[in-house]
Amino acid sequence: MTNTIDTSIYAAITEAIQGEARRILSEGHVSAVVGYAAARRKGSAQPVVITDAVRAEELIFSAACVNNLAVYLTKAKKEIPKTGKIGIVVKGCDLKALVGLMGESQLKREELYLIGVPCAGVLASTAQPAQELTGDTIAPKCRECDAHLPQECDFVPDRQPATPELAGKYRAEIARLEAMTPAERWAYWKEQFKKCIKCYACRQVCPFCFCEQCLCDRNKPQMVETTPRPAGNTAWHIVRAMHLAGRCAGCAECERVCPMDIPLNLLNRKMAKELKELYDYEAGFQVREKGPLAMYDEKDDQSFIK
Ligand code: SF4
Ligand code: SF4
Ligand code: SF4
Repeated sequence: MTNTIDTSIYAAITEAIQGEARRILSEGHVSAVVGYAAARRKGSAQPVVITDAVRAEELIFSAACVNNLAVYLTKAKKEIPKTGKIGIVVKGCDLKALVGLMGESQLKREELYLIGVPCAGVLASTAQPAQELTGDTIAPKCRECDAHLPQECDFVPDRQPATPELAGKYRAEIARLEAMTPAERWAYWKEQFKKCIKCYACRQVCPFCFCEQCLCDRNKPQMVETTPRPAGNTAWHIVRAMHLAGRCAGCAECERVCPMDIPLNLLNRKMAKELKELYDYEAGFQVREKGPLAMYDEKDDQSFIK
């Protein structure tokens, strides 16, 4: 029995993205398009910014297009948004980050031209870029995707992605952790945080970590110990989780880039589950000025105060 996932629509999507990018650049609707292009290694893809319609043919979409390009509109390439209206290729999970950033006044909808991708899934960080997309090689986030078809974009190729039923890995892992005692859970996370080498790749890749100066880099006074030792590591991970609670779009980029295989998106998903249960709130579907942790209501559940 094969568990191959049908990605045959990606060729037509590539063609449609190229056509639309060529049109919006040549007609002057946008000054640049942020998308994906083939990289050197067989089958791999990398982010690209094109400003000339002639280069639209470089754009691709494949299961190797893993990056969340929203980060290129905040800090990775700060100069891009200043050049005018920007076209950006977005998968549904990346769109959630853009929606969150609009709510936080980091981006304006009218300054973006959204090229949405009907998406069947992308490869896990453990798979080789040229590998076939299957139930074994697909990224864990895609197993429980609720955004295969991005909504309210300016252009979406008319294709239906394959969406086979796959068992949710995060869901199963959260259930396993919830069945533990608090002491067992603490031991589990302490063991994970212990592995952290404080490379901050997770912070650099996250579209929501856009502070000019991160609290964790401050040394006068020092807020979080910068060397990779257990106490400072735990502080860093708690700061990270709390800072992203109610904001995290679930793109799983932090987990993908972590060289120490720390299950960061598991913590993100657990926080998201808590927010759904406590406040019926889900990040990324609607532009909202304030998330639940930035608001107070007298009817809020106070039971956590012991
Ligand atoms: S989570 Fe959904 S939209 Fe994002 S890459 Fe996976 S299948 Fe595509
Ligand atoms: S915390 Fe991780 S999953 Fe959430 S938005 Fe940032 S990079 Fe994406
Ligand atoms: S990417 Fe991983 S190792 Fe690096 S700081 Fe983040 S959690 Fe730690």
